[in-house]
Amino acid sequence: MDQVYQIKQVLSARAALQTVPISGAFELTPRCNFRCKMCYIRMTPQQMTAIGRERTALEWLEMGRQARDAGLLFLLLTGGEPFLRPDFEEIYTGLTKMGLSISINTNGSLLDDGLRALFRRLPPAMVNVTVYGASAAGYETLCGDGAGSAHRRGAGHRGRDQHELLHGAGGSDGLLCRSFPVLDHMGWTHDTLRYAQYARSAAF
Ligand code: SF4
Repeated sequence: MDQVYQIKQVLSARAALQTVPISGAFELTPRCNFRCKMCYIRMTPQQMTAIGRERTALEWLEMGRQARDAGLLFLLLTGGEPFLRPDFEEIYTGLTKMGLSISINTNGSLLDDGLRALFRRLPPAMVNVTVYGASAAGYETLCGDGAGSAHRRGAGHRGRDQHELLHGAGGSDGLLCRSFPVLDHMGWTHDTLRYAQYARSAAF
């Protein structure tokens, strides 16, 4: 893990000197099935279609090919929630087979057997699972708007599905759990950090 990080740092530094775009991110969708109140990219399908459309899988793959030819090596797939796309496997598989080293940002709630099988077959370099709470109450404290219902649905998934994701993505070289300590909520933040530490140890 540390070696991979160091190699990436060296390559990135050399690429910067030669103005090679070695790293990039594709936001596959602005949609998310959660409604974290601080998030800037969590559209409903209706909100999205009111302003435009998502790129098709073929468009993403063509963009990936062009970026790869320009020097892209490290690619982050993110959203919104990228697993909302029914063609995620097509996009991920095509980009992986181009030789790109792919990381994924996800809330972990939509992991299913198909994705688990995909990641065993073609392991990602990294899966980043956001951890905003170790429980529904913790998640609601940070991400809820006080109304509750729209957020509890997401919160109820978080511990279970994140745990499954760690094991389902077996073969990837690690999993980074991101948490956001907020001083006003240190009570639940400590729980979140404990969960993140557990999740991290379970990933190896
Ligand atoms: S899970 Fe992530 S993308 Fe979805 S609403 Fe929350 S912060 Fe935004």
